[in-house]
Amino acid sequence: MLFDDIKTEKDLELLKCNIMRDKNLHAHFMDIRKKTATTYGPDLKHASNPNDERRMPSNSEMVAYYKDLVKKGEQKPSKEVEQILRKIKVRSNSGVAVVSLLTKPYQCPGRCIYCPFEKEMPKSYLSKEPAAARALANNFDPYAQVQNRMRALVANGHPIDKLEVIVIGGTWSAYEKDYQEEFISEIFRAANNFTKGDDEYETGTELSLEELQQENETAGARIIGLSIETRPDHINEEELNRLRWLGVTKIEIGVQHLQDSVLSFNQRDMTAKEISDATELMRNAGFKVVYHMMPNLPGSTPEMDIQMFGDLFNGNKYHPDMLKMYPCVVLKGSVLYTMWERGEFKPYTDDELIHVLREAKKQVPRYVRILRVIRDIPASYIIAGSKVSNLRQVILEDQKKHNWQCECIRCREIRNNQVQLDDYELQTIEYNTVTGKEIFLSFEHTSENKCAAFCRLRLPDKDATTTFTGNLEVLRDAAIVRELHTYGQLMKIKNKGDQGQHRGLGMRLMQEAERIARESGCKKLAVISGVGVREYYKNKLGYKLDHTYMVKTL
Ligand code: SF4
Ligand SMILES: [Zn+2]
Repeated sequence: MLFDDIKTEKDLELLKCNIMRDKNLHAHFMDIRKKTATTYGPDLKHASNPNDERRMPSNSEMVAYYKDLVKKGEQKPSKEVEQILRKIKVRSNSGVAVVSLLTKPYQCPGRCIYCPFEKEMPKSYLSKEPAAARALANNFDPYAQVQNRMRALVANGHPIDKLEVIVIGGTWSAYEKDYQEEFISEIFRAANNFTKGDDEYETGTELSLEELQQENETAGARIIGLSIETRPDHINEEELNRLRWLGVTKIEIGVQHLQDSVLSFNQRDMTAKEISDATELMRNAGFKVVYHMMPNLPGSTPEMDIQMFGDLFNGNKYHPDMLKMYPCVVLKGSVLYTMWERGEFKPYTDDELIHVLREAKKQVPRYVRILRVIRDIPASYIIAGSKVSNLRQVILEDQKKHNWQCECIRCREIRNNQVQLDDYELQTIEYNTVTGKEIFLSFEHTSENKCAAFCRLRLPDKDATTTFTGNLEVLRDAAIVRELHTYGQLMKIKNKGDQGQHRGLGMRLMQEAERIARESGCKKLAVISGVGVREYYKNKLGYKLDHTYMVKTL
């Protein structure tokens, strides 16, 4: 029976994806959709089109499907299933709605031994991971992926006026340039079209990327951040120039380890020096930098892994802004699987892994945000290695039990709490990297360990940006704001409220950044702003668009 295996929200998502891919299920589902068509609201009338074959099932449609099967006696009624159908939520995170989508199946130039390969997936992704399954159900079409995700957000009551778009799938820089341009254009077109009436649609061939971006500056759904993932050895000035043109604001790179011996053993084909050089370049171009780290790689030990997390922040070489920790597991279809079969690799026990992650987190400074401590791989894929899927929870409990705290931003951000301004004060952390200085400004609670807003200001060394050309040329002699973030409950633009987003904390951080930049002798301040935030800098703060950055002469 179709709904029998639905134990979690993830199972339900996978079932939806299956429906999109299975001809018979899809035909039956479409019958039900036509019978139960509802509207999502006046702005979104097209979202309810009962004939739209490419739209993913919504939750209310899944309820109708389930009830229909029960009525026909093809499904046993189940309280458990009904509960999941009722409570499913879509992720919306720290004041913005997150939309993740995958690029098409493609080979990666890398040959990392732990990396799995499935024919119908981009390298390193597995078809039953939630985001991957959704992409497959949408045939990797960027337009459909974005619009379906937005519909799910709307159906679950989330505002979609501010979107953070995360493009995942293998190595972005290895895809053909035409494909990259088309893919990103389609993302903007999907966001722009979403709140329009049927007759105002952009059909896909009319507007250039720049025109679509320009339109998004004032669209109903604005893209306030855009990230891609790539390899450090693909980062150079030319690539960064191009990424700016595409509208990218954040780069995720696979680092995995910092010891050359471990990198080499795992066939990463890069050195720690290349990782550090790439990081400097990205920072000097204003990008936010996310490192993917992989404890438990063959050739490493728990001690080496713990040391590695310390090395990220001691010295001046790395200092990523955000971290994703993806402990290595043995997956079918990887070289590591063969090694494991031959007894040449033994993963850590769960206790060892938790020990490593605990000691890793203890070393993470207050200006870093830990995005994940585990990758969402369904346990059925994992041949060996940790299958603890609620690792984050386990570590939280460990914190309480052993009385320690993770100081990262994610653990300290105020989330939905209300901000009483008197309770917060402006604090500064400074650290040096190889070719510049980072200044982390934040509004911190005076008695509780909570953060309401922050800004990453970079002061590159004089000669660090002299070779920059094209889009990057505006950064010569400039201080750079790489990130500005205020926390609080997701609210629509223009709504006034007590939450951090609307209390001018962002503006006050920018004033402080301008003051520091001026006093440091910088001629201008440049902000790597998402396309959808340009209006804010223009109207509220007097910045002007100059080669993809928002710039103010000081
Ligand atoms: S670079 Fe990334 S996607 Fe490519 S093989 Fe290595 S881990 Fe896999
Ligand atoms: Zn944390």
